[in-house]
Amino acid sequence: MGSRMSNKTLLYTAEQIAARVGQLGSDIKADYEKILDPEEQLLAVGVLNGAFIFMADLLRAVGGLPVEVDFVRLSSYQDRDSSSAEVVMTKNLEKEIKGRHVLVIEDIADCGLTLAWLLEFLKKRRPASLKVAVAVDKRARRETVVGLDYVGFKLEDGFLVGYGLDYAERYRNLADIYQMETGGH
Ligand code: 5GP
Ligand code: MG
Repeated sequence: MGSRMSNKTLLYTAEQIAARVGQLGSDIKADYEKILDPEEQLLAVGVLNGAFIFMADLLRAVGGLPVEVDFVRLSSYQDRDSSSAEVVMTKNLEKEIKGRHVLVIEDIADCGLTLAWLLEFLKKRRPASLKVAVAVDKRARRETVVGLDYVGFKLEDGFLVGYGLDYAERYRNLADIYQMETGGH
């Protein structure tokens, strides 16, 4: 692939991702078939931009489970001196989530602060249930307890790109997930 690819190492192939996402889809289908009333639809809330490919794949893997989608977009600025993040919601929900069964779909849990903030935000709106699916759970830098119900891959640390994940808005459309040498991780 040439020098432009040389700072990235293949971590999860498209085939591995498809197999894992297929399993998660089956789990989600089985779990929500027990919970949803006949006329109810699951409300999947995707976190833009990183989750867009994972969400598209995951929701096609839940069989015929009835699903509605909504999206938020978050920007977080980690405060290095405290275990908090300043999170700014740059795109809000468009649907009412009160009384709904909500599944948040996020790309990565790293420090966990972005997800913790979002779950707090959503809980205040009183959904009937609230669960989380992440493509990758990176554990080494976790700073807060955040419940992850459906996890694609578990990893200690590393900066990942591909499958929706970017480095400076590049590489989101790569089909595989790569670990990148950034110096920062
Ligand atoms: P945290 O859990 O630290 O609050 O932040 C999670 C967010 O940081 C994720 O939603 C994701 O956008 C971004 N992030 C964390 N780790 C990585 C990574 O390895 N690669 C990319 N591209 N983004 C990451
Ligand atoms: Mg994100």
